[in-house]
Amino acid sequence: MDVRDWPLWTLRRSALAYWLAVDAIALGIVVYVIASTPTPDSEAIARFGAIAGTAGAVIIVSSIYSHRMGETERNPWAAHLTYLTAGLIALPCNLLVLLLFGPALHGVLAQRPESHRWVFTLSATAVSVFATRALLGWMSPNRELLVMVLGAAVLLILRAGIIALGLKLRSPQAPAEEVVGEPIDAVLGIVAVSIGGLMGFVATATPVHALMAAAPMALLERAAQLPHWRRSAQRDAKTGLANAVHWDGKARYELSKARARNRPMAVMLLDLDHFKKVNDEVGHLAGDAALSAIALLLSGTVRRGDLVGRFGGEEFVVLLPDAEPAVARSVAQRVRLAVAGLAVTTVGTDGREHLLTGLTVSIGVATTQRYGYELPDLLVAADAALLAAKGYGRNLVEMA
Ligand code: GH3
Ligand code: MG
Ligand code: MG
Repeated sequence: MDVRDWPLWTLRRSALAYWLAVDAIALGIVVYVIASTPTPDSEAIARFGAIAGTAGAVIIVSSIYSHRMGETERNPWAAHLTYLTAGLIALPCNLLVLLLFGPALHGVLAQRPESHRWVFTLSATAVSVFATRALLGWMSPNRELLVMVLGAAVLLILRAGIIALGLKLRSPQAPAEEVVGEPIDAVLGIVAVSIGGLMGFVATATPVHALMAAAPMALLERAAQLPHWRRSAQRDAKTGLANAVHWDGKARYELSKARARNRPMAVMLLDLDHFKKVNDEVGHLAGDAALSAIALLLSGTVRRGDLVGRFGGEEFVVLLPDAEPAVARSVAQRVRLAVAGLAVTTVGTDGREHLLTGLTVSIGVATTQRYGYELPDLLVAADAALLAAKGYGRNLVEMA
């Protein structure tokens, strides 16, 4: 690919400057380390061999397994962080640089779709690894327990901070979950540096004992799939919205909170009008594209705390906290108008681009003030109102 076509250049200017600065600092550190660190002795090379060999074997076996299981999305950073931490306390700086070839090689072999993001994450990792090393002692790192715990905290927080700032600059609107990650990511990070710490500590005494970290590392590799598994269990794959089961659970929880605080709430049930016609006339792929576009529009039109879910086929559901009936009605009207104004670029069954317009939606709204805080009661009422909206001619909002 031509350099000018790199997706890197699509970054916003501030993000581009920051990402390149982090990359440049990492490169500078690596060059400095290679130039300034004396040739390692045979003992250090043995430690390197034990750490890199153990990690390499675990990662290769684990990725073969994961490939066979048909897992398409993996997060290998927990494993990389493990052996980097081991190297951080057990190796001279130039061999630590050599360990960074692990994630670098991974990025090249896996052909990540966003290679610039991989490079940025790698740079952020390198910067935080060497900052931690400077704290522990550049030539011979301090291995006292408290110092190591402090070092682990610096490594994790600095790395997360550098990456979070980069992601925030890239998309200021992105939800916190995407920028700083989820709590489980922090747990995985702590486990990774703990295993790495143990690995580095025993490797310092007798290199071959680094092998003992293989099984916990393999387990960590599996556990690193947890965020992905949780997301796919909770989200609807086609639209990215909460799926019906997850939405139900969250809605019940929010309703019980609202009942205790005596706050009003509303449930909005939406069904696209004559959607079968879209499938029949333009194609099912176009229908799917329309559903995705409407899901995106819905998430963008309601407030941040509103809970949007895919109820069924072409039915969506929204829980509106703190919404009086009049507010709920105006939100529903806003959504209805937004859908009516939507134009979705899709591909028709003839293979040609097709601009899909004229989509409309009917909406039924039920409020806690009339129907109480039991979810089934609210859904039944909203569904009846939706049916009435269809009966009155569609593209309408109806209050239960
Ligand atoms: P109306 O609601 O206005 O009465 O008409 P409708 O044509 O939307 O009626 P109905 O609810 O009976 O049909 C829903 C259609 O939605 C049926 C199905 O073809 C389509 N549909 C449901 N889920 C999906 C999906 O995931 N993808 C696509 N492409 N279509 C879907
Ligand atoms: Mg419909
Ligand atoms: Mg329907």
